[in-house]
Amino acid sequence: APARKPVMAGNWKMNCNHLEAIALVQKLAFGLKEADHEAVDVVVLPPFTDIRSVQTLVDADRLQIQYGAQDLSQHASGAYTGEISGAMLAKLGCSYVVIGHSERRQYHHEDEALVNAKVKAAFANDLTPIMCVGEGLDVRKAGEQVAHTLAQVDGGLEKIPADQARTIVIAYEPVWAIGTGEVATPQDAQEVCGAIRARLAELYDGEVADSVRILYGGSVKGANIAGIMAQPDVDGALVGGASLDPGEFVKICRYRD
Ligand code: PEP
Repeated sequence: APARKPVMAGNWKMNCNHLEAIALVQKLAFGLKEADHEAVDVVVLPPFTDIRSVQTLVDADRLQIQYGAQDLSQHASGAYTGEISGAMLAKLGCSYVVIGHSERRQYHHEDEALVNAKVKAAFANDLTPIMCVGEGLDVRKAGEQVAHTLAQVDGGLEKIPADQARTIVIAYEPVWAIGTGEVATPQDAQEVCGAIRARLAELYDGEVADSVRILYGGSVKGANIAGIMAQPDVDGALVGGASLDPGEFVKICRYRD
């Protein structure tokens, strides 16, 4: 079996000020053991305004928790009021950056070309993109989830070379399962995650396809993570609501128990 280290990434969305962020990371660090970090990459994705505080805590206590941002600008610098660059995130010790979350696609009209530009901006700063893809309810009802999601994968990876593509993280997040409590079945998750891996083999080669970590996201909790992780092409989870509860997030990281 390919040796892909699972990733459990907590997308805090627009929750927690920097003081609350410190408290949450401390509780998480207290709950996690060395064996957990050996088994999975534990990642938190706080709001921008929390990242400096998280960095200070992680560095001071030498925590193995990794962190990143929920978005970045496609531009390197300049007259882009309100934007945050990849270089700024890298300087704060970020390892990851979420790109193309469904909430940004929906509320900020992010399309495939913009997602692709942001993936390039992330790689230019040695950040690992967590590129989000996935269909809405209408597409699912029409049975078009695989074609829809693969088109997003194709668009997001346009002109990304193999040596970068092999390090990307792709999160399959069916929009109808995000924040709704309606988790996809393990079979639903495997269908699309398996199709994404097969597409990576077509776009690149088998080595790239075997290297990329593909996450499931959508109402993941301690009680449903094991079945999802049992699927061969699911290498972790992008967790929203449950990542704000340190006890629940630790349970998710410990899905093997
Ligand atoms: C998400 O926002 O990426 C997500 C999966 O949210 P939730 O776990 O709350 O459904």
